[in-house]
Amino acid sequence: MPDFVHLHVHSEFSLLDGANRIKDLPKRAKELGMDSIAITDHGVMFGVVDFYKACKAEGVKPIIGCEVYVAPRTRFDKEANIDNHYYHLILLAKNQTGYKNLSRLVSMGFTEGFYYKPRIDYEILEKYHEGLIALSACLAGNVNREILNDNIEKAEEIALWHKNLFGEDYYLEIQPNGLPEQVLVNQKLIEMSKKLNIPLVATNDAHYLKKEDAYNHEILLCIQTGKRMTDEDRMRMGTDEFYIKSPEEMAEYFKNVPEAIENTVKIAEKCNVEFEFGNTKLPNYEVPKEFATHTDYFIHLSTEGLKRRYGENPPKEIKDRFEYELSVIEKMGYVDYFLIVWDFINYARTNGISVGPRTWFGCRFNSCIRIRNNRYRPNKI
Ligand SMILES: [Zn+2]
Ligand SMILES: [Zn+2]
Repeated sequence: MPDFVHLHVHSEFSLLDGANRIKDLPKRAKELGMDSIAITDHGVMFGVVDFYKACKAEGVKPIIGCEVYVAPRTRFDKEANIDNHYYHLILLAKNQTGYKNLSRLVSMGFTEGFYYKPRIDYEILEKYHEGLIALSACLAGNVNREILNDNIEKAEEIALWHKNLFGEDYYLEIQPNGLPEQVLVNQKLIEMSKKLNIPLVATNDAHYLKKEDAYNHEILLCIQTGKRMTDEDRMRMGTDEFYIKSPEEMAEYFKNVPEAIENTVKIAEKCNVEFEFGNTKLPNYEVPKEFATHTDYFIHLSTEGLKRRYGENPPKEIKDRFEYELSVIEKMGYVDYFLIVWDFINYARTNGISVGPRTWFGCRFNSCIRIRNNRYRPNKI
């Protein structure tokens, strides 16, 4: 059996587009004799933890990635009919640095680049590319779009830009879906690979598990686009080939370029991200210099709040309760947690953003800071 790894796979977290249930992916990979599989949802990483756990449970190696959207101009440009024509790009994390960079890029796609989709741009890709492998993606990839525009020169220029950035971790992606455009693109990419010395990689942009799931997937697309199956002009994939193909099927289609199959295994070997569970990892809250410890600052803020409500000399009952609450929070090791929550609530309030009881009481530890008589509200510290 040829060795092959699926490196371009959409789960149910490619909302209303990916029909693969996360738990089914590693199972199916294993059934077909593959020992690794990637997750590359559209613009998000919501599924990666569940995916990681599901893979570990099956003894399959998880490869953490994302099919990001790349803005045609900068991530800040948001003009109709121009900036909604984003490109696709597959990014896979090789190591912890790559995972952090990928998380950062995807987050920035939402916080800075959101326009129809969470979009990154070439500026931040350059800045946060360390530890990442890039594949040129589907027909919506930048290189492929230029090939389809019959602008090979531009396609090569874009491919070289990626090669300069990612070095040997940039691959031209070919797919066996049989679409006429893809057949043309595959041929051009194989030529380009030789000419520019950029390795090829075979993927199948899997949106569903088995060939027969293609019909259900079409229904999912109808739900996404608000169409009926009877609508002639609905968006569709145009083929039933986007499933988790077996290594044999992949190798058979690309028997003329076996290196594209071999490279999937090499890439899988390069990707080694481990998640650690069970350790609470709170961010460290940086306190102002004049305070020696986090607890000092926490006591300072709390005391200020107490004074605002009860004056310089609060009644003994209040003071005792105050001391008791502080001691519990400190003993439980939640001082930083409270400072962090205070920080974002305080930021929201000073920037005109509404925060209500739900924000605060949604916190897991609210019970230990709520005072029964409700006179002392901690979110007003
Ligand atoms: Zn794509
Ligand atoms: Zn895709």
